Amino acid sequence: MAQPFPPLVFSRDFDPQTGVAVPVGRGIVRVTAPNASAYTFTGTNSFILGEERVAVLDPGPESESHRAALLGAIGRRKVDAVVLTHTHRDHSAMAARLARELGAPLWFGGQHRLSRPLRRGERNPLKRSCDWSLVPDRVLQDGETILTGDLSLVVHATPGHCRNHLAFAAGDMLLSGDHVMGWNSTLVAVPDGSMGDYLDSLDKVIALPCRRYLPAHGGPIEDGPGYARALRGHRQMRNEQVLEAVRSGAETVGAIAARIYPKQSFAVRRAAAMTITAHVEYLASLHLLTIHHGLFGMRIRARPERSPRGK
Ligand SMILES: [Zn+2]
Repeated sequence: MAQPFPPLVFSRDFDPQTGVAVPVGRGIVRVTAPNASAYTFTGTNSFILGEERVAVLDPGPESESHRAALLGAIGRRKVDAVVLTHTHRDHSAMAARLARELGAPLWFGGQHRLSRPLRRGERNPLKRSCDWSLVPDRVLQDGETILTGDLSLVVHATPGHCRNHLAFAAGDMLLSGDHVMGWNSTLVAVPDGSMGDYLDSLDKVIALPCRRYLPAHGGPIEDGPGYARALRGHRQMRNEQVLEAVRSGAETVGAIAARIYPKQSFAVRRAAAMTITAHVEYLASLHLLTIHHGLFGMRIRARPERSPRGK
């Protein structure tokens, strides 16, 4: 089948220079936190935005060395705000403390919330990664422009990875948070996140006039929109694979994972199950599948032939 999307190629060749203030664009400095892991790649990228006055984006995890690196990079400049792309703890854990120490307000897209309500008996697999109690001094709104000293940032609501995710456009650059990252595809796990929201948010950033993306993990993406289109194509292929597996008789997420990843270990398939569940819910929202929640978990059935649309 013809694929209108460019191929998806990850880039993992990145030296984060952890703890060092690295200029990455006009008025933008990156400082990577020392929290490298399988989920955070080389660690969370914090950004210092502005020249004479600054804002700090995503202060990252609780870490004395990272706090010292950020304070060193800020120097004596006034800090207008501490801003977050979203409230997963690898981005937000140090935010309240740093804002207090700097005498700066805390701005983000509203308190952490789920993308849909929990069903009875369901648990949020990301529950412990979320900063539930953090409250913003100001809730940033989609489309508004915020001025941090000499830099103006346009706020773009980009839900999907989680409900309150924001990306920020600074001229032709996009601080893309966890929404678009060059090293890997973004984790979309229900009900913290939503595949439908995620795909809509990919379309949204593809349409922006921003070319260079600065993600919250890993290095810059030079052709951001081209890469985001490749991610879009990858998700569409996954939608088609999931639908195909269900049409040929797979009735559970485990059975779908076994068809899509037949050679993978049980552990890899279990991780993939989170993403497949998000695809299944998305396909059900398009009325391509039906989901029955019974005593023995979720049973998935195909609906009569219709192919997934552009999404
Ligand atoms: Zn996150």
